[in-house]
Amino acid sequence: MVINVFQIAKQKFLEHFNNMNKKHNEYNMTTAALAVAKENLHKNGYLDLEVDPTLDLVAEINKLKKEKNMIILAHYYQESEIQDVADYIGDSLGLSQKAANTEADIIVFAGVHFMAETAKMLNPKKTVLLPDLKAGCSLADSCPPHLFKKFKAKYPDHVVISYINCTAELKTLTDVCCTSTNAKTIVESVPKDKGIIFAPDKNLGAWLIKKTGRDLVLWNGACMVHEIFSNEKITKLQIRHPEAKFIAHPECEAHILDKADFIGSTSQLINFTQENDSKEFIVATESGILHQMQLKSPDKTFIPAPPNNTCACNNCPFMKRNTMEKLYLTMKYNLPEVTLSNEVIKKGLPSITKMLEISKAAGL
Ligand code: SF4
Repeated sequence: MVINVFQIAKQKFLEHFNNMNKKHNEYNMTTAALAVAKENLHKNGYLDLEVDPTLDLVAEINKLKKEKNMIILAHYYQESEIQDVADYIGDSLGLSQKAANTEADIIVFAGVHFMAETAKMLNPKKTVLLPDLKAGCSLADSCPPHLFKKFKAKYPDHVVISYINCTAELKTLTDVCCTSTNAKTIVESVPKDKGIIFAPDKNLGAWLIKKTGRDLVLWNGACMVHEIFSNEKITKLQIRHPEAKFIAHPECEAHILDKADFIGSTSQLINFTQENDSKEFIVATESGILHQMQLKSPDKTFIPAPPNNTCACNNCPFMKRNTMEKLYLTMKYNLPEVTLSNEVIKKGLPSITKMLEISKAAGL
């Protein structure tokens, strides 16, 4: 009897010892992997760590949100599962307004780099996280600030309006930013006798010239996602779906916009699909928006407008760099963080606050 008790105790001790050893080894492996991931953060753009595939990521993300007082702001172009776990989903204007007013300690931006930079400018003292630093933007990249500076110097009396889809550095060379929701209002807020430079999107700029009758000087930039819609394929789609309304984002080229029944920002497109009686819509913008359209109007059909390549839909490769796993790791380790120099914040912020003031006064 005494021997049995001794043997059981010994067995329990060994089990406990083995478990401790296993946990210790796992801890060492995780710590080592984390150190390597941190070292490679800027090369990879994100924390390259394995995530247990059995983990309930939605539950874990929600737990981290509460524990750390984090807010997830997501753009409509994000994967649907990221949109579903976000605290706020919106277009660039809505996201900037939300970032300006949040009481969260940490802003997690499920979007692209310029959006996280805008949030950082509005919240210099807060931590702003982006799941993947390489989630950039072809439109922002199409306007390098050092070249824009020379371009701007040719029109010294002009007001500079920049689409918010631009780098923080470009914002330091900008008088007032705009989004596709408020672009017309911002252009019209400039006195008629003043010239205007509009950067970086030439397609949005050309559409604004038509809408406002103003003679804008355009920078020659564009978004790769909105530039590849196929006029021919859209026409064929319209023949197959004669009742469908064709709706488009103003970043599309003029020959695509000319065919559209409605042109608007992402939030305006969503509102249109809710309010319009049509049951079918062909949508010319990034395909991530279809998720919200479908959620808001489950009885309607949404067809992504086809691009000039073999893909059946239109994805932004930058927006789609964010995944649920990267989002979870970002929130767990507070990395990668988006930072800006005080000088860039000081010089760039007025262009955003001015946009927010004009929008507020216009009821947007
Ligand atoms: S859809 Fe175009 S403008 Fe938007 S983030 Fe992607 S590349 Fe930039």
